Amino acid sequence: MSDALLRADLLRWYAKAKRDLPWRRNPSPYRVWISEIMLQQTTVAAVTPKYEAFLRRFPTLASLACSTEDEVLKHWAGLGYYSRARNLRRAALTVVADHDGDFPSEFEAALALPGIGRYTAGAILSIAFKKPHPLVDGNVIRVFSRLFGLKGRAKDPAFVKKMWPLAERLLPRTKPGDWNQALMELGATVCSPDSPSCGACPVARHCVAFRKDLQEELPQPEATREPIPVRWTCLWIEKNRKVLLWRRSAKERLLKNLWGLPESGKIGAIPGRLLARTAHAITHHALSVELREAAGPEGELPTEAKWVPREKIRDYLVSSLWLKLLERL
Ligand code: SF4
Repeated sequence: MSDALLRADLLRWYAKAKRDLPWRRNPSPYRVWISEIMLQQTTVAAVTPKYEAFLRRFPTLASLACSTEDEVLKHWAGLGYYSRARNLRRAALTVVADHDGDFPSEFEAALALPGIGRYTAGAILSIAFKKPHPLVDGNVIRVFSRLFGLKGRAKDPAFVKKMWPLAERLLPRTKPGDWNQALMELGATVCSPDSPSCGACPVARHCVAFRKDLQEELPQPEATREPIPVRWTCLWIEKNRKVLLWRRSAKERLLKNLWGLPESGKIGAIPGRLLARTAHAITHHALSVELREAAGPEGELPTEAKWVPREKIRDYLVSSLWLKLLERL
């Protein structure tokens, strides 16, 4: 089978079967960029409502550049990996300063922006500018591994490196954005990690894994990694309807630079009655968090601490860890 037939089969299917996702409507560079950053490490279902709300608050690149970091973090709440939100804002400032506020249409210039790697630059340029740049993400790796019968682990850098020449070879010069999205759509909806729907696959006649019955074996499973257990005791310190919050430092292992409830030991207060308890996962860490009542510290507050009116604390506590704890209060 030729590359041309493979392209034709996949593009025909994509034209009919693609999901109606908000970032596919009016795919301007700004809208595509925001969606691509949000979709890194996060599912379509989790991103969709956040994406629409984020664009209501920051409808243009200029509005994002004019915002404060805290405002952007607040609208990123629940998506995790908060460095993505900080990089978005830093990149918006760079675009305003260096590119007259227009997202750059040249690959090297896009790649130079904070938070944009080879995949994201390829996605934005191919989808929003219709420029012929390939991309490789987890879905594409899985699809290529099966389609071409290639053995390897999807997270092995050497295996990933092998995918780029393939992506370049297959990329059509017209509609490169549709092709890139079709590959990812196939991986997301048909060629899924477990039990791919080969019977409904538009490219089954090209697929080595299907022919050799290797779908379940390719790509090879990742080595399992035990999550690192972390225990925190955090404090609920309330006085005159104000709650004491704590800005975590840049040196913290988790939730760096974000506001949170103070951990006991960081502030001179003794943990008292248990108020709530939750489990939470953050990048290979399994957190077990207790929230305990405590009396306020005496004297001047450390610079990291701040009294915040109770009704305003959700403006600061952006991680879903805190939101889960607050629900249990
Ligand atoms: Fe994936 Fe099956 Fe299609 Fe091959 S035939 S690409 S394994 S869904």
